This record gives sequence, structure tokens and C-alpha cells, in this order.
Amino acid sequence: MPDPNGFLRYDRRLPARRPVPVRISDWREVYPPAGEELIREQATRCMDCGIPFCHDGCPLGNRIPDWNDLVRTGNWDAAVDSLHATNNFPEFTGRLCPAPCEAACVLGLGGQQPVTIKQVEVEIADAAVARDGLRPRPASVSTGRSVAVVGSGPAGLAAAQQLARAGHTVTVYERDDAIGGLLRYGIPDFKLEKQHIDKRLAQLTAEGVRFRTGVDVGVDVTAEQLRAEHDAVLLACGALQGRDTPETPGRALRGVHQAMAHLVAANRVVAAAGDGKPAPATLPDGTPIDAAGKHVVIIGGGDTAADCLGVAHRQGAAGVHQLDLYPEPPTERDAARDPWPTWPWVLRNYPAHEEGGERVFAVAVQEFVDDGTGQVRAVRIAEVTVEKVDGRRIVTALPGSEREIPADLVLLAIGFEGTEEQPLLAQFGVTRNGRGAIDSGPDWQATDGVFVAGDMHRGASLIVWAIAEGRAAAAAIHTYLGGVGDLPAPVDPARQPLAPR
Ligand SMILES: Cc1cc2nc3c(=O)[nH]c(=O)nc-3n(C[C@H](O)[C@H](O)[C@H](O)COP(=O)(O)OP(=O)(O)OC[C@H]3O[C@@H](n4cnc5c(N)ncnc54)[C@H](O)[C@@H]3O)c2cc1C
Ligand code: SF4
Repeated sequence: MPDPNGFLRYDRRLPARRPVPVRISDWREVYPPAGEELIREQATRCMDCGIPFCHDGCPLGNRIPDWNDLVRTGNWDAAVDSLHATNNFPEFTGRLCPAPCEAACVLGLGGQQPVTIKQVEVEIADAAVARDGLRPRPASVSTGRSVAVVGSGPAGLAAAQQLARAGHTVTVYERDDAIGGLLRYGIPDFKLEKQHIDKRLAQLTAEGVRFRTGVDVGVDVTAEQLRAEHDAVLLACGALQGRDTPETPGRALRGVHQAMAHLVAANRVVAAAGDGKPAPATLPDGTPIDAAGKHVVIIGGGDTAADCLGVAHRQGAAGVHQLDLYPEPPTERDAARDPWPTWPWVLRNYPAHEEGGERVFAVAVQEFVDDGTGQVRAVRIAEVTVEKVDGRRIVTALPGSEREIPADLVLLAIGFEGTEEQPLLAQFGVTRNGRGAIDSGPDWQATDGVFVAGDMHRGASLIVWAIAEGRAAAAAIHTYLGGVGDLPAPVDPARQPLAPR
């Protein structure tokens, strides 16, 4: 029986982050392990409220009160099993998820701080690795059926693991030189050290999943070939088409880049250094892209922008401005606009913001300014208002509010326009919808025997949604292949985050 008064005895506490001067001098994760005493105390704050809205907040339906109580009572093995029953990769979500479950925690109803669900999750996940090094669970019987998974992000990997454990032969095709999708070369090491991906991959490999890197499906191997070799195909190619701003004067100047170009280059430098092969940060064509000694301007306010900010600090930028089109959000939930238990619009301070840089809200870039040689030297911004008219965003600049911010490196982190237009789509006979995503039927099939999941299906989203969709698509594929019994399907293709009606 959980402690009904734990939240009255203990305040919400998170482990201290590593000191800023120390952590920006390396690429290691920002948070050190919390320690058992703190985690058991924090798990005690979960009162097992009876109707756990956190379950609905979490797309995976993680059994949060169950594992909180198991941690409180020191039953770590059972906590690991409970967590793995719904989540293939809690070491990813425990580090990276924005935790919509915490926004839905019942403690929030009474004006209390929510349980530190995400922190408990990562500690359980890390305990599992420390205890038995992620024991493989290979299928005891092979079904003789074969599935191709295209794309090795969290959606593809979750589906691959579910299908392999159900006895199917799974091959994951990835065009990059390493497995992991955005976890590998998009998200920096200070948020997710890559050893966590490698440990999971060792488990998946031991469970029989085959990985083929450096294979661009649609180019190196055709859809027809995949269909001939496999009984079903899952497309999990992400939503990597970066939004651009071609109409802004000066967009073609040197020094103006997509944020992902900067992040991928930086991540490759860290990976190469780890392999003992130091290399400079460059674009694929060899052009240097590094913030060292530069005035950096990041355009955008989300995860990608914050990751660029953290990278710029670690590369030794002379200064960083982060520009946001929207006004500064409130620090507390506006209950009229976003009632509990929905996800609130509030100011989110990432660890990278604690490390430096200046955030500027309610501004838009009017021009990237040329230094006379074709290189950007500044951005000219104006203060703006933003309103929605008939579903369209209208941005209005305030006359006389323009000013320049020095900039040698400008990074566009203004979102994604869905999955990339690439040969694979036509070959499989699927087309992008108005949001740039690939639609599916209620059984996750985009077309006969071809399934779709993750960002490619729902548009740029979150890791927890990618894993949930990967699990659900795997369940549908298992049924399609005539597998015995059901696999868990935490979401259906129409499922959306909690929202006010
Ligand atoms: C910079 C950044 C930071 C983020 N930070 C967070 C965070 O902190 N928390 C969070 O929850 N979410 C975060 N996200 C979002 C999260 O990473 C994605 O929602 C998630 O990775 C989507 O998973 P996926 O498996 O659908 O696709 P992806 O991870 O995008 O993987 C798709 C894979 O498909 C491969 N592929 C594409 N086409 C082909 C082809 N033709 N042949 C072979 N392979 C192909 C790609 O190379 C890629 O590896 C972040 C996103 C970005 C860009
Ligand atoms: S995966 Fe995300 S939403 Fe689900 S329990 Fe973990 S932190 Fe919460």
C-alpha cells in the first residue's frame, strides 16, 4: 500500500545538475545519477491516487504508480519488469521525454508539484543495466516470417524489438552509417550519451535483429526488392524535412544553415573523438560549421534550438542569441487556456539556457545581413505580434522596432515539414499528406503490407510517441502475419495528446 502522505512529507527534488563551467567543458550528460536514497524518497511522493491520469498523459501507458511503489519499497527487479512491460527503451525516455505524465499528475490538481516520474524512470532503467546488463529475451520459436524495418530511430527500433521477440525475422535498414535515428546524430551527448543506444543495440542483436547501415532504401535497394525479400515492411523514416525561410533576404549567405546541419556535424565530432579519430566539424561537403569564437544566432524556440544552444556553448561561441517568434510564455500553467491534466504552454528552461546566451521573444528576422563578401555578419530583426486568422498565422512587424544583432553563424531551428520527399515514397506507392506525413488505416497500413509509424506518420513529435507507435505498428504487423496471440498496442493511429474539449 503506497504512502498516502509521502507528498506531504517530501518536496519535489531533482538531482543537482553538474556545475555549468564543468559541464560545458565536455560533452557528458548534464545530470549525474540521482542516488537510491533520493529516488526512493521521490517515489514515495506518489500516493497511488486511484485514477492515475499520468497513465493517460504517457502515450505508452507506463504503469507509473506501480513502479513508484516498487521503488519506494526497494523492489528494483520488479520495478524494472513493470517498466519494461510498456516501454522498450526507458533509458531514452527517462533522459529525454518532456514528461507529459508529470503535467497530468494528480498532485498538480491541489497545487502541489508533480512526482518526478521521469527521474524515477531513468533510475529504474539504469538500475536494470547495472544489474544484468539488459538481458536479451530472444523468441523461443521462429514464425518463419520476415519483416523489413526502414529507419532506425526509436519507432523502428521499438517495432523491431517487439517483432523479433514474437519470433519474426527482422532486418532494420538505415541509410546513416550508425543506428539510432535522431538519437544518434541529432540529439547531443550532453542529453543522451551514445553508450545507452549501443547497449540496447547489443540486446536487440542478441535477440536476432539484423542491422544494415549505409542502405538508402529507394536508392541502394528498391521497394520491389524489399517486398520480394520480406513478408511485411514498416516505414519509420522520421520527419526530417527541415522548415526553411527562402523568402528572407540573405538566406543564401554563407554562415546561414539548418540547425540539423550544425547538430549532426557536432555529434559526428564527438563520436569520432570517442573512436580516437579527432576531426573538425564540417558539412558533408567539407565546409566547416563550428560555433567556436563566433556570434551565433539561433532561430526557434524548441528542443532543436536548445540543443544548438548547448552545442554552441561547448564549442566556445563568443555569444549566442536565441530568437523566438512568440511572446515569452508564463511561468505557471494558465488554467483557463490549458486546464490540468493537459500539456501547458509555459516557459521551458532547458539546462542549455542555464549555461548562457540571451533569449529574445516576439521577434522575427527581416534580413540576414551581408558583410560584403557573401558571408552573414548580422541579422536584422523586428518586434512582432502573431495571430491566427482562419487557421493561418499572421505575423505583423511593429514599425520602427528594427535592430541588428551581430551574427557569424545563423542556425534555423524553425521546425520540420514532415517526412522527406524521397524515391522510396513513390516506389512504395505512398504520398505525403498536407502536413508532410504518411497516412495509415486503423491497422497502421499505408498500403498493402506496408506499415508506417513514428514521426513519418504523425509528423515531428517526441520519442515517447515514436516508441508507442512502433509498438502499436508491430502489434498490427504481427496480426497481419498471422502471429499467435496479441502484442501490446498502446495507441491507435488517431490517438492525440490530452487536450481540452
Ligand atoms: C535536435 C532534436 C532534438 C530532439 N530532442 C528531443 C527530446 O529531447 N525529447 C523528445 O522526446 N524528442 C526529441 N526530439 C524528437 C525525436 O527525436 C523524434 O520525435 C524521434 O526521434 C522520432 O523517431 P522516429 O523513429 O520516428 O524517426 P527518426 O528518429 O527521425 O529516425 C528516422 C530514421 O530513418 C532513416 N531513414 C530515412 N529515410 C531512409 C531511407 N530511405 N532508407 C533508410 N533509412 C532511412 C533516417 O536516416 C533516420 O535514421 C528531438 C528532435 C530533434 C530534431
Ligand atoms: S515515457 Fe515520458 S510520459 Fe511516459 S512515464 Fe516516462 S517521462 Fe512520463
